[in-house]
Amino acid sequence: MKHDCHYHPGEPAKWHCGDCQIHYCTRCMPDADTRKQHALCPHCSRAMRYLGAATEAVPFWNRIGAFFRYPFHTDPLMVIAICTLVPLVVSGNLIGLIITLVLALALLKYTYAVISHTAEGHMKPPPVAVAFTGSGFDIVILQLLVFALMGGMVAAAAMVGGPLLMFLAVAFVILALPASIMVLAMERSVMAAVNPMNLAVLISRIGTPYFLLYGYLILLTLASGAAQDFALTHFAPGVARTLAGFLNSTFTLILFHMLGYLLFQYQEELGFASDLQDDENAGEMQNRDRTHRFDADIDMNLKDGNYDRVQSMLKEA
Ligand SMILES: [Zn+2]
Ligand SMILES: [Zn+2]
Repeated sequence: MKHDCHYHPGEPAKWHCGDCQIHYCTRCMPDADTRKQHALCPHCSRAMRYLGAATEAVPFWNRIGAFFRYPFHTDPLMVIAICTLVPLVVSGNLIGLIITLVLALALLKYTYAVISHTAEGHMKPPPVAVAFTGSGFDIVILQLLVFALMGGMVAAAAMVGGPLLMFLAVAFVILALPASIMVLAMERSVMAAVNPMNLAVLISRIGTPYFLLYGYLILLTLASGAAQDFALTHFAPGVARTLAGFLNSTFTLILFHMLGYLLFQYQEELGFASDLQDDENAGEMQNRDRTHRFDADIDMNLKDGNYDRVQSMLKEA
């Protein structure tokens, strides 16, 4: 559900008071603390629910161009370059093998970080450091565990219910795979990522757009496959493998950015609130000034027709 501000029609609502049933925009709430997601209702002084950018997020099908530009920023290109080119120059001994493996892990860690980074409202890729520092290298093992458990579920379905049930289980696993990746990236819990109830709820909350996204994912995967195929048949093996690796990473980043954006767009339905983090006026929003609160109160009271109240407020001031 998308709501407008009660006092500024056309302005997306950022806050909602459950007691007064009124939506407010940022102009009405200059004293709100968006970082702590805390604001008091100007009418009843009770804490309000933060809506984040849910009410103004552009639907993902309107920003396909932005998805394709996503990997072409300095940070992701550096990560991809390091992780694809360094393994070519290290020697084939044990140390070289370990370096190759660690870099592959770093690349996957960076890719999974893209989902949560985007869902939190960052429309620019995470910094290079994300790939090589901190925790979270276990994401690859967690993802492998998810695949193993899903395979186990399909096998169990086949044993219990024969080919028909197995077919249904395979269909569900294929359909729920993007949802599972989203849950794993956000919650880092294998159990949450394989729980069929969990995945079904996520898919049904998002609704039709999930299937639209699924269509895009299939097209992108096919395009990525075709591009890698072209590279492998038209270039010398060494160059071709590097190029294919590069293409694969780029397309994966686009895919995962899309998954993260779906979470961002449907944050209200999915039960969390985040706002765009990259806009310059973020600092200005922190400006919690008494006079701004006063102006907003005057504005609201005028629009509500409380002229006596406005008069007394002005006199007091
Ligand atoms: Zn407003
Ligand atoms: Zn209220």
